[in-house]
This record gives sequence, structure tokens and C-alpha cells, in this order.
Amino acid sequence: MTRTVAIDGPAGAGKSTLARLLAEHLGVERLDTGAMYRAVAWAVLRAGLDPAAGEAVASLCRGLRIEVADRVLVDGVDATEGIRGADVDATVSVVAANPAVRAELVGRQRAWVDARGGGVLEGRDIGTVVLPGADLKVYLTASPGERAQRRAGERRDGRSAEEIGAQLAARDRIDSSRRDSPLPTVEDAAADALVIDSTGLDAQAVLQEVLACL
Ligand code: C5P
Repeated sequence: MTRTVAIDGPAGAGKSTLARLLAEHLGVERLDTGAMYRAVAWAVLRAGLDPAAGEAVASLCRGLRIEVADRVLVDGVDATEGIRGADVDATVSVVAANPAVRAELVGRQRAWVDARGGGVLEGRDIGTVVLPGADLKVYLTASPGERAQRRAGERRDGRSAEEIGAQLAARDRIDSSRRDSPLPTVEDAAADALVIDSTGLDAQAVLQEVLACL
């Protein structure tokens, strides 16, 4: 029986939609780990801290109460929309490259799974670091153009697909080149994950590909 599913891949590949559909299908909960890193970046900006200030950011992170469900609450404040803002988009990868922040959030993610006996987790390092023993690992990707188009459709904050595309590329560059828990390349992921290129596929088609492997 499939109890733990890891979904990794670059920004805008469709991980959240797949996580939601798969969690519904399996009757388990899902955790958007990107929302946790975003919550820390949001709190860093609010506190006026330098996102690259390693120890100050780590210490803020350790003290933060982060609740990720339908809404995202940070120390009790609703940050659901705030964590999707352009300022957080531009900062989150720097915060996420901080090893002490990662250690803290990975611990919370594993505790979340332990408390439920399973779940669907999406992020960048789920199959490699958080849940290396997951029952199923999916690496979801899509062409850069399609990822930017999808994000531009979701955001509706006036940014063009070109601006969003440049920003996604910058984030992917940092996420895949950091020393601690980088996003794997498609080639590396293929060793133990089901790799799906969702370019031109709708959410149901991606879901069916995954279900065929269960
Ligand atoms: O998934 P999303 O695009 O919302 O993630 C925001 C950022 O959080 C990523 O660009 C990455 O820097 C960081 N992240 C991470 N590890 C995860 C999930 C997200 O480093 N497991």
C-alpha cells in the first residue's frame, strides 16, 4: 500500500496540482514544503532581516510557528497570499539555501509524516533527503515556457510571463546549484523516481501516468 509519496521538480511544473489530486485519490493529506520555505522568507522580510544573514535567519526560523493547510499561518498571522508575492519569490531561494533553515524544516516535515503515518509531500529534496524511503517518488518537470505561462496564469499580479519566466529561471538556478540538498537534474532523478514531463499534458493526464505506476 502506498503511504508516502515524494513529488519533486522545478518551479511551475505542476507539483501542487498533482499532489492535491494524488492525496485525494489515496485518501491521505498533502504537505506543500515550498510554502514552509516561503513562510520563513515572508517572516524574514517582515522582520527587516537580510535574507543572507545565516544565523539571524536560522534563529528566526527555529522560533516560527508555521501552519500549512488550506491557509498558511505564520505565528498565527494569515500569510496565504503574502507568501506568493513577488518579494517572497525573489528571496525564498536564498533563505532555502541556508543549511540551518533546511535542517529545521526537514525535521518538521518528517514529524508531519510520522504524526500521520504517511502523506504526499512536494518540494525539491523530498525524494533525496526528506523521505529517501518514500513508497513512490515522482520528478515532475515541464518546458521553461510552459512553466512560466502557468505561473503567470496563477499569479494575476500584473507581472508578464517573461518576467515570471526570468524569475523562475533564477530560482531554479539557485535551487539546483546550492550545496545543501539541491534540486536534482532530470538525469539524476531518473535513477529512482518516475520522471514525467508535463509539457502539453493536463493535470488528469499526469495523474493517470502516476496511477499507472502504483
Ligand atoms: O515550491 P515553491 O516554488 O513554492 O518553492 C519555493 C522555494 O522554496 C523554492 O524555489 C526553493 O528555493 C524552496 N524549496 C526548497 N525545498 C523544498 C521546497 C521548496 O528548497 N523542499
